[in-house]
Amino acid sequence: MTGTSQQDLPPAVLPQGSGRRQPLKGQTALVTGANSGIGEAVAIALGAAGADVVVNYVVGDDTAAKVVEAIEAHGQKAMAIKADVSKEDQVQAMFARMIEAFGTIDILVNNAGLQRDAPMHEMTLDQWNLVINVNLTGQFLCAREAIREFMRRGVRPDVSCSAGKIVSMSSVHEVIPWAGHVNYAASKGGVMLMTKSMAQELAPQRIRVNSVCPGAIRTPINRDAWETPEAYDALMNLIPYKRIGEPDDIARAVVWLASDDADYANGISLFIDGGMTLYPGFTEGG
Ligand code: NAD
Repeated sequence: MTGTSQQDLPPAVLPQGSGRRQPLKGQTALVTGANSGIGEAVAIALGAAGADVVVNYVVGDDTAAKVVEAIEAHGQKAMAIKADVSKEDQVQAMFARMIEAFGTIDILVNNAGLQRDAPMHEMTLDQWNLVINVNLTGQFLCAREAIREFMRRGVRPDVSCSAGKIVSMSSVHEVIPWAGHVNYAASKGGVMLMTKSMAQELAPQRIRVNSVCPGAIRTPINRDAWETPEAYDALMNLIPYKRIGEPDDIARAVVWLASDDADYANGISLFIDGGMTLYPGFTEGG
């Protein structure tokens, strides 16, 4: 184990005061998978909080353009960049374009993700690989590029007391096993320990890495679980708070984690799930 002496640490800078209307003013952010669902809400909320935002997407030029417009309506710069997060060359080209256009990156939200569900005995290697490649390897590739830029640039005390922030979009399934979704649960379990290991490794550089773990959020990824009244009622058995989550519930948590208000939060899994992780089956006494 190598030690880090006090002298190696960057100078301590106090967090920017809380309660500011635009806690991310002057910062630049990249959100992956930002033209749908949670990523879209996060990108717009980061813009409302004062950040300039890159809207990453893989298909849907028109929906990405609409998210860019919504961010610009908050008076911030925004640009859409098409890139598949599971492809190293595309990720590197995306970061190069962002840094050329915006100068640097302060916040990465590793949000892109998908499901390819199948019972274990029928799951194909392609279904396994696609989910792991996008949900886990995609987060690795984007985090590595962001970290390289955070380390090159260091802390700018007038912008943030941290050298950079990464928010990993995980899931309640980083801890709740999920039959029929083994590839997805394995990817989010991986995201959990990747996030915490990065947080431990990079804390001495004043880089913070945390994850947000949504429960059931109303987006296209899980339409089957909320679209009909029957499905919605069945879903409520899993949610003590008795409502589905909305993308903005997640976006507010991401803005907080990315801001200096969360300066002492590092390596946490922030569950935003209406209590889904509280063993709802025991609500009636077990
Ligand atoms: P969504 O399908 O609306 O959005 C997913 C986004 O990821 C889309 O924009 C999609 O195009 C993008 N994407 C997929 N593959 C990509 C690739 N290779 N490169 C770049 N982008 C790619 O779903 P969502 O619910 O908004 O999901 C966002 C994240 O939240 C995912 O990581 C998902 O696992 C996680 N999550 C969602 C829920 C939920 O209930 N909706 C719960 C827990 C976790």
